[in-house]
Amino acid sequence: MQSHSIQQACDLICSARHLVAFTGAGISTESGIPDFRGPQGLWKRYRPIQFQDFLRDPEARREYWRRKVELYPGIRDARPNAGHLALERMYRAGRLAAVITQNIDGLHQKAGLPAERVIEIHGSEAHIVCVGCGRPMPVEETRRAFAEAAAADLLLVVGSSLQVYPAASIPGETRQAGGRVIIVNDEPTAQDGIADLVLRGRAGEILQQLADLSGRQGGIQ
Ligand code: NAD
Repeated sequence: MQSHSIQQACDLICSARHLVAFTGAGISTESGIPDFRGPQGLWKRYRPIQFQDFLRDPEARREYWRRKVELYPGIRDARPNAGHLALERMYRAGRLAAVITQNIDGLHQKAGLPAERVIEIHGSEAHIVCVGCGRPMPVEETRRAFAEAAAADLLLVVGSSLQVYPAASIPGETRQAGGRVIIVNDEPTAQDGIADLVLRGRAGEILQQLADLSGRQGGIQ
């Protein structure tokens, strides 16, 4: 699919009544946190540890925590980049209603978005849940994320390969409820075919341009 223009995306953003952003690991690579499936992704270095293996195999658990110890300082110390800051500007300008994120890095909140406007559909690096007594998935966050996706008349998807379910069903939820979808990613995603607009490139740069342009264009509703 061809890449559309920033102006086309901005026109959709400026006429949206309920814009929701849906972000993935790709929005945080410019803060130095590697994604999983991109060209420099962690799966190029590590084999993914499946949840069943984590539960069954003490060696898989040791390896999981060894990786966490290695990667956690990078997440703890990361700063929001131009992309996170642009979404915060769009929120402050009254353009953006909420962010649904697959990320566990807390960078949307560090950028200044109120915690109640950020739905962490995959939980957060800041909390650990016991697999013996905790819930298997953030049930309430998942419910809220799908409700926001259905309420959105425009969903801005940023930096996600859209391969991890159930989160990857979010764009379909918006479409099914009659909303439109813009995808911002530096490589093709699994769902470009259902998007109304695709912007190919770096998230930080594109979001900054969208925040600038929509900030100059009037008509905040
Ligand atoms: P993914 O790794 O599957 O896909 C990321 C996509 O973003 C890739 O297509 C990649 O090419 C693109 N991308 C990378 N840098 C970009 C940039 N600067 N601009 C535009 N596009 C860019 O990530 P996902 O879809 O979010 O999926 C899966 C899982 O990864 C989630 O469950 C999430 O929790 C986890 N994850 C989170 C973090 C984090 O919290 N920062 C980091 C790694 C993985």
